[in-house]
Amino acid sequence: MTEELTKMVAEARPYAERGKVADYIPALQKSNASDLSVSIFNVNGHDYHAGDYLKKFTLQSISKVIALALVLMDSGPEKVFAKVGMEPTGDSFNSIAKLETMKPSKPLNPMINAGALTVTEMIKGNSSTEKWTRLIEFTAKLTNDETVTYNASVAQSEFDTAFLNRSLCYFLKQHGIITGDVEELMDLYTKQCAIEMNCSELARIGAVFAMDGCDPLTGKQTIPKDIARICKTYMVTCGMYNASGEFAMKVGIPAKSGVSGGIMGAVPNRCGIGIFGPALDHKGNSIAGLKLLEMMSNRYGFSIF
Ligand code: GLN
Repeated sequence: MTEELTKMVAEARPYAERGKVADYIPALQKSNASDLSVSIFNVNGHDYHAGDYLKKFTLQSISKVIALALVLMDSGPEKVFAKVGMEPTGDSFNSIAKLETMKPSKPLNPMINAGALTVTEMIKGNSSTEKWTRLIEFTAKLTNDETVTYNASVAQSEFDTAFLNRSLCYFLKQHGIITGDVEELMDLYTKQCAIEMNCSELARIGAVFAMDGCDPLTGKQTIPKDIARICKTYMVTCGMYNASGEFAMKVGIPAKSGVSGGIMGAVPNRCGIGIFGPALDHKGNSIAGLKLLEMMSNRYGFSIF
């Protein structure tokens, strides 16, 4: 399998030339556009890799799934669904448009920025620091790596430039969806997006979702089954932003991407997948990563449909 993966990576890598690394977060501009790596973590404990799979990258929007799982565990689905909807948007991930046209004015889902900011504010804790500690400890549990942390310069770079996200927050605050201090929330959210890991660790988290929240190595139920199911459903309908329909057609697995070029996939009862390829298409998904996933899905019959 490793040999096959290496071949597929070599075949998909040239697609990176058609994409561009994210530049609206200045620190992400430093990424190497031609990077492409993958890890597969089989639920039987075997893992397979190709490319520079130990290279670390920030999770960006992939972190939205982790925060969502934690908040659903903290407060239960009813409280979460009172603030965020269940529908895909068809708009880009940072769009403000639907917030104004929808009544009531709540984010359509937790995978777009407006929804994710709402969810992150809901993390339980008496202070921002406590919320952050709970989030990073939960992430450590999922990766089985206590040293997991965030990239402070990427977080700072986003914090310094996130005017659009601040606008979303103030809009949501006007409508009572967000209630606390916006700067504190931005600090927490940019740290969350800057949580850093490699493909292998990301694939391991994917495998927990693939097993309905049960850690394939320890056998522990890290996320309750019904909550893992909600997260996976959002990953299918909204995980690849406004390209989720095409992705369901071509790859057909629950997945979540981030503007760093990461993609986490969960193939039910089979494996977790971690991919890193920082060159993005115009919708903000890893262009070579998507090609690679399409090849893998065809070769291994990953589609759930
Ligand atoms: N931190 C990024 C932002 O809020 C995450 C977006 C993404 O990965 N799509 O803009």
